[in-house]
Parts: sequence; structure tokens; C-alpha cells
Amino acid sequence: MTENGNRKRVLIIGAGFAGLHCAQQLASEAAVDVTLLDKNNYQQFQPLLYQVATGALSPDNAAFNLRDVFRPHPHVTVRMEEVSTVDLNTRSAVTKQGATYSGDTLVLAAGAQANFFGIPGADTMSFPMYSLQDAERLRSRLLELLEGAAGSDKKAEAGLNIVVVGGGATGVETAGALIDILQRATAHLYPNLDMGKATVTLVDRGQHLLEPFTERSQAYAAEILQQRGVLLRMESSVSGITDSGVSLADGTFLPASLVIWAGGLMAAGLSAKTGIATGHGRRIDVQPDLTVPGYPQVYALGDFANVLDAAGKPLPQLASVAQQAGVHCAKNILAHLRGQERSPFVYHDKGIMAMVGRNAAVAEVGSKHHALTGAIAFAAWLGVHAILLTTARAKLGTFFEWAWEYFGGVNVSPILDRPSWSWAPEKSDPA
Ligand SMILES: Cc1cc2nc3c(=O)[nH]c(=O)nc-3n(C[C@H](O)[C@H](O)[C@H](O)COP(=O)(O)OP(=O)(O)OC[C@H]3O[C@@H](n4cnc5c(N)ncnc54)[C@H](O)[C@@H]3O)c2cc1C
Repeated sequence: MTENGNRKRVLIIGAGFAGLHCAQQLASEAAVDVTLLDKNNYQQFQPLLYQVATGALSPDNAAFNLRDVFRPHPHVTVRMEEVSTVDLNTRSAVTKQGATYSGDTLVLAAGAQANFFGIPGADTMSFPMYSLQDAERLRSRLLELLEGAAGSDKKAEAGLNIVVVGGGATGVETAGALIDILQRATAHLYPNLDMGKATVTLVDRGQHLLEPFTERSQAYAAEILQQRGVLLRMESSVSGITDSGVSLADGTFLPASLVIWAGGLMAAGLSAKTGIATGHGRRIDVQPDLTVPGYPQVYALGDFANVLDAAGKPLPQLASVAQQAGVHCAKNILAHLRGQERSPFVYHDKGIMAMVGRNAAVAEVGSKHHALTGAIAFAAWLGVHAILLTTARAKLGTFFEWAWEYFGGVNVSPILDRPSWSWAPEKSDPA
């Protein structure tokens, strides 16, 4: 299987759902050595970030140390390095730390970053929600606002207005959790605060929330959020963000002390440093077997790649797509090394789900997207996400936190150990 009896080297950039699952699938293979590079020393579990941001979970519940994950696998080398450029011809990567890594096979799985669509102030004045650092920074800002309002700062109390931009799953989940935290959890910690003055507004330029979901799920999410006090501004485009609020294209100004950006994604900045033209969303276009056209030993996957289904439609940016692509990529790498045909990636759609708030979620199950709403979808969301967590310890810990909260405990992690300005936001390279 190997040339000169040597083990083949696989270099993977990005240890998210795609890269991590690719490395895990290769970890026990006798024929390969894997080097896994990530700018962080952890895998972040994005579906739970909004719970970290609203203090319902601690960062430990939503991130997993990569060295720990691969401790039982001596043929996987983990390095915390940020890749600044890659050369597809030599399948090599140069890192910001000054090192060069190369492989017989290169896997590009650097994920996505916020896309601010060039809206003035969006990148500097809003709080994006795409990484663990983003979530921790947002939690600090939220606690600062609450502490200010509960203290002597009367202006802060009067101005506890939060705007969430983007009505996809991230925006809906964040808005639902915020209203819950403002109404329920703060009663325990800030009893002197008059939450009647606080507002959470969700803005989206589309007609409906949760675009990929069925009309029934969309209507349910809108109804629950409104019942719980979230103000919806649909068909409203954001034209600018300042430190005092959000301007809409129709001339309306929404005053806000906190603006959360959940308005869109594009591939991570590294996609512009590969030397090839990128496709939609700055992602790398790939062939059905996940290789980059013209580079048979280079694969791109997950949120970093445009992967089409059999009908030529782009697959969505979902953890399940990235995870399955990671496993499939590993199988194709091994097939190629054995001199076998590589197979096209086929995504097995098990459905989509989004949390709307306590005891309320939408789940569309199976490839036919059979819609469930309410408590049953809420339980399904918790179960599916607990199973997806990377380590057994995280599964148990997170499940305990959820159960604690569900049966009346308040999970808000209220430690304000670092002011929001001291968290460096993830740098978004311009589109
Ligand atoms: C807030 C939020 C909530 C979500 N909720 C859900 C959900 O409920 N269900 C669902 O299915 N999907 C959800 N998604 C989408 C899902 O998380 C992504 O589709 C998935 O993470 C994509 O996996 P990936 O491996 O391509 O990228 P990622 O998981 O983002 O991993 C990319 C990795 O590359 C690393 N990296 C980036 N640039 C470099 C560099 N230059 N050098 C080294 N390392 C680098 C990053 O640190 C990261 O670890 C959510 C996404 C977000 C942002």
C-alpha cells in the first residue's frame, strides 16, 4: 500500500467537524501518519455556542481539547498553528508561527467565518456568533450590561435593548435564549432590575425565519418567539450599525446597547490564500469525490467547500454534512492509496433542527423532513446534540447542566472575569 514501505503523510488543516472526523477515521490506519493543524487547541462545538453566550453552559461544555481527543492515537500529531498560506502543488502549508508542513495528501477543512456583507459598522460594532471566543465575548458584554443596569447606571437600565441580526437557526436560537435569560434567570440574580424595559429584536431581510425549514416550523418559531416577547422585524435590511444601534434600509433606527451578528457566513480567510479561484461564499469548489479540480491529492470539505448533491444543488453548511464528508474523505484517501476508485460523496440527510427556547424547538426528521414542534422537538434537539458531542465527559456534563436547568435550577454562568473589550474578536478577512 505504501511506497518504499513508508507510511503516507496526510496533512489536515482545521480540526472542526470535517477535519476532526477525517483524522479520527484515519487514526487507526496502519498506512498513514496524520498531522492535524488548527489555530486553536480545541474543537469548538458551534451548535452550543449560543448557550455559552447566554451563560447556560460553560465553555468547557462546547469545546474539546484536540490532544486529549487523539491521545490514544500515536499516528495523529496535533499542532496548534494558524495556517497563513497553502500551496496546492506541493500540498504544503506555511503557518503564522513560521513552520512549513507538507503531506502526500492535503485536506482543507478550515471552516467558515462571519460575512458582514460590507455593511458599515457591522464588523466593528456588532458581536458575531461564530466561534467560542465570540460566544465568551458576547457573554461578557451581556453581563456588563446587566451589572450596569442593576447598579447605579440608570441609562443602562433604560437602554437594555438587544438586536439580533439574522433569522436563521443561530439568530433564532440566540434570540430565544436571550429572552429566556432576561426574563427568567435574571430574576434570581438581578431582582432589582425592571426587565419590562428590556427588549430583544430579531431583524431579517427575508419574509420568514428559519429559511430551510417548512412553513409550519417557520410559523411555529415566529409565534413562540413573539409570545415570549421577542420583537420580529422581517423583510428589513440592515444598512448600518453604530455603537448606539442599528439602521434599517427603510430609514428606521433601532436603538441598541448590544447588536449580535448572525447574518451570514463565508469560508474562512484561508480560502483566499490557496492560489486558486474560489466559488460561492468564497468556498472552494470540489468534485463529487471531494477533491479540488486539477489537484487529485487535495481535498476540501465542510464549510470550506462548495459540495454539490447528485442534483447539482449545494449541500448546506451543517455539522452533519461536514462530519459525513470528513469520514468520506478519509475513505477516499485510503481507496486512492490502495489504487482503488474513489467514490462520490453522498450526504445522508437525517433532518434539521433548531431550538426556539425553553421547551420549544422545531425538528424536521429524516430526508422527507417530517416536522415536529414543541416539547418533543425540544427533547429531540437535546438528545441529538448530546450524542454529537465529541467526548463522553462532555456528553455527561452537558446533559447534567441541561437537566439541572430544566428541573428549575438556573444555569447562568455569571462570572464576569474578563471585560468584553479584552476578548479579541475572531478576525474576519474581508470578502
Ligand atoms: C453558531 C452556530 C450554530 C450552529 N448550529 C448548528 C446546528 O445546530 N446543527 C448543525 O448541523 N450545524 C450547525 N452549525 C453549522 C456547523 O457548526 C458547521 O457547518 C460545521 O462546524 C462545519 O464544520 P467544519 O469542520 O467545516 O468547520 P468548523 O467546525 O468551523 O472547523 C473549522 C476549523 O478550522 C480552524 N481554522 C480556521 N482557519 C484556520 C487556519 N488558518 N489555520 C488553522 N486552523 C484554522 C478553526 O479553528 C476550526 O477549528 C452552526 C454553526 C454556527 C456558527
